[in-house]
Amino acid sequence: MSEFYKILRLLSVFALILLASGCGSAIEDLRQRYRPGSPREAYVLGLETMGIAESAIASEWALQGDEALRVTLSPTLPYREEGSLFPTEIMALGYRLRLERGQQLIVRASLDNGNDFFVDLYESLDAMGLPMRRVASADSTAELKHDIDRTKDYFLRLQPEILSEGGFRIEIMTDASIIFPVTGRDTGAVQSFFGDSREAGRRSHHGIDIFAPRGTPVIAVREGRISRVRTGGLGGRTVWLRDNKGHSFYYAHLEEQLVQSGQRVVPGDTLGLVGNSGNARSTPPHLHFGIYKNGPHNPWPFVFSPNLRPSSLRVESQYFGTWRRTDASRVSLLEAPSSGSLTLARFESPVDLHIIGGTSTYYHVRLPDDSEGYITASDMERTIMRNINSPIQRSRSTIGS
Ligand SMILES: [Zn+2]
Repeated sequence: MSEFYKILRLLSVFALILLASGCGSAIEDLRQRYRPGSPREAYVLGLETMGIAESAIASEWALQGDEALRVTLSPTLPYREEGSLFPTEIMALGYRLRLERGQQLIVRASLDNGNDFFVDLYESLDAMGLPMRRVASADSTAELKHDIDRTKDYFLRLQPEILSEGGFRIEIMTDASIIFPVTGRDTGAVQSFFGDSREAGRRSHHGIDIFAPRGTPVIAVREGRISRVRTGGLGGRTVWLRDNKGHSFYYAHLEEQLVQSGQRVVPGDTLGLVGNSGNARSTPPHLHFGIYKNGPHNPWPFVFSPNLRPSSLRVESQYFGTWRRTDASRVSLLEAPSSGSLTLARFESPVDLHIIGGTSTYYHVRLPDDSEGYITASDMERTIMRNINSPIQRSRSTIGS
């Protein structure tokens, strides 16, 4: 054993002694310090190391980060926003997203000047009376991809490094979180849905039925282990696949099973062939596909791939990053960039708006009191906005003089 490894072993023994002698909190402190839980935490640690974490700018940055998690903005997905950061403004962008179990959330963000954008996804634990919990994070060097485990409200925060300025781009979308279970088919082949009535309402359908010619391969939707291969009952010839997150995927009415119990599989491996065994004898061949984890779950969000590109930008990018004052005509502040949106406020007297960015035919704006929303491009054009250097009532989030 080299001297180096001897020293390394001595050090780890020393750490164990520290733990055993009640210095656990010191160790925890070290762990907290040197193993940050997210790129944003690593950045904050860097600020601490440089001794500037308590500076006015860094404190305001941290505060804006917290504020961004209390937003009311609720964009429709897929979402694309382009905008511009105000050089003297410390800010963070926050979005509330309603997401469904089984969907995969994908977030991409970038800044034109190459600085980092910190992306953090939180889940609301409001129903339990608890604060939010961070469930995923990334920086702009990596795309954030997260499989949604619970249907609820999530809060997405995108915060650039301190003193970032210039253009930014954001894309937020959802996709399927598993591959489609029948080769060569997609959700267009689904003809019976989760929750459909069965046996004259005596039970409900705990899966989706995917129609395909007899003998079409059914495939592993995730990496995992075959937990059961069985013949008999309503499902006829069936295969159960279990992934490492505790989901069991159920394949029923097979013509033939091509795996054994205990076998390990990777996505795309053939598990069997489509048929109409069990109680599907009188129907055309189809795969009954179910997903269970503490009860049955709707497979649709797991397999549905919206295949939509976010709509392109149809607003004036010259307004981005500027303050504008409206005239006295009516302007509505909306919660979402869509025609069915809830109206957050209506202004009939001049109001100052910081135009952060735009999405499709809407502008994303912030008011001097830090409230946010969307206004339509037509409202914007109609109100003949004057360019102003700064708002009448300066925002708390504006730094400098
Ligand atoms: Zn079925």
